[in-house]
Amino acid sequence: MLVIPPSFKILHDLDQESLAVRIERCGRLCYKSEDKITEDSAPPFIRRILKHGHNSVAEMAILTLKVSPGGEADVTKLCGALPKYLHIDRVEKELLISGSVRAFRELYQAHPNLKIVKGITRYLHTRHPLFFEDIVPEKGIVRQGGIVVEKIPLEDVEQLPAYLLAKHRFVAVTFTVNRAVTHEMVRHRPCGFLQESQRYCRYSENKFGSQLTFIKPLFYKEDSEEYGLWEEAMVESERIYLKLLETSTPQAARTVLPNSCKTELIVYANLLQWVHMFKLRTSKGADPSMREVMIPLLAEFKKLFPAVLSHIFAEE
Ligand SMILES: Cc1cc2nc3c(=O)[nH]c(=O)nc-3n(C[C@H](O)[C@H](O)[C@H](O)COP(=O)(O)OP(=O)(O)OC[C@H]3O[C@@H](n4cnc5c(N)ncnc54)[C@H](O)[C@@H]3O)c2cc1C
Repeated sequence: MLVIPPSFKILHDLDQESLAVRIERCGRLCYKSEDKITEDSAPPFIRRILKHGHNSVAEMAILTLKVSPGGEADVTKLCGALPKYLHIDRVEKELLISGSVRAFRELYQAHPNLKIVKGITRYLHTRHPLFFEDIVPEKGIVRQGGIVVEKIPLEDVEQLPAYLLAKHRFVAVTFTVNRAVTHEMVRHRPCGFLQESQRYCRYSENKFGSQLTFIKPLFYKEDSEEYGLWEEAMVESERIYLKLLETSTPQAARTVLPNSCKTELIVYANLLQWVHMFKLRTSKGADPSMREVMIPLLAEFKKLFPAVLSHIFAEE
């Protein structure tokens, strides 16, 4: 067995990638099949994922659009449709709309006849056909009908004033932590999540070192009696897990695995939601194993986005 400390990584590199590359890289974390990525593996991977309804993978890429509506009626109708998981702001005569590929797909699926939704989807379908080919009629949808849509690059999103930056700048972080911590993180409902799957990963395979990996518990000193007992429990659960794998599937064998198992989780949220999580998860009442990663992560966010975070989390 392997024992490692918890860690996190802000996925800056993915911010520079195409939506398809980004979605594949994140989606493959579930299966730990990143080794299967090639120059042309993204489209078939994405088609398969969408077909099977593994929908949270499509939450891993965010688009920010500037939309000039045809008229006031379009705005009223769009807001009246109460789009789920889209962030909409009025900036003078235009709308600033941010959301994931999934949110834009489901906007069209729920409201295919709204003129403004048709205009937005037509733009997205032209620019990113891979994500809309299964839901948009073969010949493409309809005319854009006076709706003008433009994609806002990340560099321009970063120039927005703080109140808009907080809503429209999304940040993805991969956590390598134990499963008790990820269980707490996934309670934050507005985020997008993807997690390494114990149903699909067979830890007896070579690529996992034919062993289990556990996260070092911060509660016990390494030379203490308690640490010795914890270690004993991990050795035993690994032994039983590997024995069960000889005759059963990973999803069956995983039922003996403990909270200390290492797992990877991608959390993708806008800054407003990160602020909410930092408030709850760095406080003295939070789980110490959660604070262990969230306190240093907050320090990173404060450096990256001072306009949004510094006045909320003043130096202690
Ligand atoms: C110290 C601590 C102890 C905890 N102990 C327990 C425990 O013993 N047992 C337990 O089950 N949980 C526990 N929790 C989890 C906690 O109750 C929340 O589920 C978790 O922190 C997610 O945060 P949230 O609900 O504020 O909002 P998020 O899910 O992060 O949502 C963000 C915002 O979305 C809105 N929102 C989302 N969904 C809804 C909804 N359905 N209705 C209304 N508004 C919504 C709210 O405005 C909310 O502020 C604990 C959390 C902490 C920090």
